[in-house]
Amino acid sequence: MKVSYLTYGCKVNQYDTEIIKKILNNKGLKESDNSDIFIINTCTVTEKVDSEILKKIKQIKKDKNKKIILTGCLTNYEHNEIKNYVDFIIPNEKKFDINFYPSKILTFDGKNINVEEKYKKFSQKDKAFLKIEEGCNRFCSYCIVPYVRGDKIKIKDKNEVLDELKEFLDYGFKEIVLTGINLGLYGEENLLILLKGSLKFLKDARIRLSSIGPAELTDRIIDFVADNQDRICPHFHLSMQSGDDKILKLMNRNYTVSFYEKKCSYIIKKIPFAGITTDIISGFPGEGQEEYKNTYDLVKKLPLTRLHVFSYSDRKGTKAEKLKNKVSSEIKKQRVKELILLGKEKEREFIYKNSGQIRTVLIENKIKDGYAEGYTENYIRSVVRFDNIKTSNLIKVKIKDFNNFKAVAEIL
Ligand code: SF4
Repeated sequence: MKVSYLTYGCKVNQYDTEIIKKILNNKGLKESDNSDIFIINTCTVTEKVDSEILKKIKQIKKDKNKKIILTGCLTNYEHNEIKNYVDFIIPNEKKFDINFYPSKILTFDGKNINVEEKYKKFSQKDKAFLKIEEGCNRFCSYCIVPYVRGDKIKIKDKNEVLDELKEFLDYGFKEIVLTGINLGLYGEENLLILLKGSLKFLKDARIRLSSIGPAELTDRIIDFVADNQDRICPHFHLSMQSGDDKILKLMNRNYTVSFYEKKCSYIIKKIPFAGITTDIISGFPGEGQEEYKNTYDLVKKLPLTRLHVFSYSDRKGTKAEKLKNKVSSEIKKQRVKELILLGKEKEREFIYKNSGQIRTVLIENKIKDGYAEGYTENYIRSVVRFDNIKTSNLIKVKIKDFNNFKAVAEIL
């Protein structure tokens, strides 16, 4: 029997889908792009993703023969309209338990699918995501994650992680992204031991850390990355969310503006060409013009190299949902637009700063005749002449120029 998979949301969810594929593979369910049965691993972090999922489900259900099995974070969130459309719901915490998969929809024949098949489609990318931590108990006031994903922290045993790392490397992945719902809760000591233990396996391959909290990214971790930049990417995704202390307090974030500033300057002191990317939530309740200007000015001032800008949306059951002084959608839209433009400026500045520098790009996809693109270790999207290089390859390049928010690089 064939099934199609759809995944929404974070790197952890993409990793989880790969595990679900493995489990169902072992029960003889073959992955296919055009099956009558869809397994959708959902996210519900914003209103926007909910409406994307609803639109997709309605589209699938235009064909009455299609069946949808829903799992993921949205199964623990109150969204009846979506739930009324699907044929079966597997609670997020049960998505790895084969006993929860409906035999009335799925026919298991127990014949294993071969290994090759297993990895070929890892998120359609040339890098593999490796989940090392689950759960979050921070309860940032806008965030639904601890409610839908659970506030119990689970960290994966170091040896189990290293075994998975070796499996991915043996299969040929050149970049492994360590990820978690809140990666920083893996703990400084555990993360350092894990990174140290991984170095001997990283021959012509590298590890990248996914999003980590400013308070959890300690100076010792930064120092370790600084000493091992050839194998641990000098790129930190440091979610800032707001550049105003009053708003950070309302968000229940565990750092202040000056703490965030100091963290950025320490990174640049130790790793002058580090990539520092971030998330900003625009239009949080109570964000007046002054608070917004504080965020804008801070982004302008800090050595940030790329922004992900989100428009605040209420999530039912979160503390922020009950806050007053909601920002109008027009103002939110305007601020998001301005921040995205500012983010583009930061990207351009960083590419120019890297001009003439030698970097290593993981070729991810061919773009047009003779050209391919991928990311450098410090997270610059780069374009190279393609000729005969294979994708999934780490290649040495020299950053030459800037074009359309990408670096134009020359293969060495
Ligand atoms: S740290 Fe905050 S924003 Fe991140 S998952 Fe936890 S509660 Fe959500």
